[in-house]
Amino acid sequence: MKEQKKPGVDTQCIHAGQHPDKLFGGVSVPIYQSSTFAFESAAVGAARFSGADDGYKYTRLGNPTTAALEECVAELEGGGKGLATASGMAAVSTTYLAFLGAGAHLVSSDAVYGPSRTLAEKELARFGVESTYVDTSNLDQVKKAIRPNTKVVYLETPGNPTLAISDIAACAKIAHNAGALLVVDNTFCSPVLQRPLDLGADVVLHSMTKYLNGHSDVVAGMLVTRSADLMGRMRRVLVQVGGTIDPHQAWLVLRGVKTLALRVRAAEESAMKLAADLEKHPAVAWVRYPGLKSHPQHALAKSQMSGFGSMISFELKGGVEAGRLLMDSVKLCVLAVSLGGVESLIQHPASMTHASMGPEARRAAGITDGLVRLSVGIETYEDLRADLWNALDQVGTAATASGNAQVGV
Ligand SMILES: *Cc1c(COP(=O)(O)O)cnc(C)c1O
Repeated sequence: MKEQKKPGVDTQCIHAGQHPDKLFGGVSVPIYQSSTFAFESAAVGAARFSGADDGYKYTRLGNPTTAALEECVAELEGGGKGLATASGMAAVSTTYLAFLGAGAHLVSSDAVYGPSRTLAEKELARFGVESTYVDTSNLDQVKKAIRPNTKVVYLETPGNPTLAISDIAACAKIAHNAGALLVVDNTFCSPVLQRPLDLGADVVLHSMTKYLNGHSDVVAGMLVTRSADLMGRMRRVLVQVGGTIDPHQAWLVLRGVKTLALRVRAAEESAMKLAADLEKHPAVAWVRYPGLKSHPQHALAKSQMSGFGSMISFELKGGVEAGRLLMDSVKLCVLAVSLGGVESLIQHPASMTHASMGPEARRAAGITDGLVRLSVGIETYEDLRADLWNALDQVGTAATASGNAQVGV
């Protein structure tokens, strides 16, 4: 008997869901840029609406280009069904609305994407949903946060911008023992590096804006689950809320996904070298990268991820001023939020995304003054390193000139 070997991740990126077009044999999945689909007869229309015929009806309910992308990402996540959304936040809000209701409780990582927390804490709270935020890399905190009405445990691992690693399998057990679901935001890893469903998660979600698309030209999201029941609940919500992806947007992500594995590996190779070198730079106080032995959950990262990714956080000794100066001194790294693109993106939370919080609140959230978040791209490594080191030299020189005693210690 011939053994059916599972295709490799590079093969899946290129072929999963992306079959030659049945009509003309087009190798690239066609863009079905149509809002609605004609029925051959009243009987066919009726059959489609009753579910007896699974043909397409209306793009908010389903579209062939979108379906190809859903099949592709679901296969990359190790099986199940996918549901593409108009943005990563549309995927997050769909899980919240599908699995939480009045009187329900959410336990979430405190190091989640900001709007994922604000949505639950500020908006869902108005509808009677409670939420608790804990350091999910600490299992005791997760256990303690569980209540009788906890319906969802929500993880982002690695966390943002702390890059703390949470144990997916252990959190799945805690959630399931409490009768709750485990939802994992897998945006930072992409399915190339981490497959949460294999570790016991019930639902995986992505901001495809990041690694899956990878070219900083699309905003999109994805949900994947192996449960027909959970998928049915999420699909109903998404269709009714209207957070559907546009077919052209779906096609662009399909195009980006073909090189996902290549991009992720290339970026990781540079990130590993940069992180190790940054640790030795005199202007840098510390570096957080899951691939470094100095990372507090390095061993867990090694066992749960198949690579360490390309997000690096590091602390400048010179604080806010040093952060600002570094941002103004880089030339190749692009000064912008977002991540997972082919270009390296750098940002300084204390003077940018988190400036309005004020220094005290930032400190409480672990966002230190000199913290820099770097999304390593796939530029020539030597160019990237030279750019960062030139900028770091400026930071070092300025600090010495102004007599900043913190720098160079
Ligand atoms: C960007 C991001 C989101 C939100 O995605 P959008 O596509 O911007 O809506 C959610 N989670 C993580 C981890 C992200 O980085």
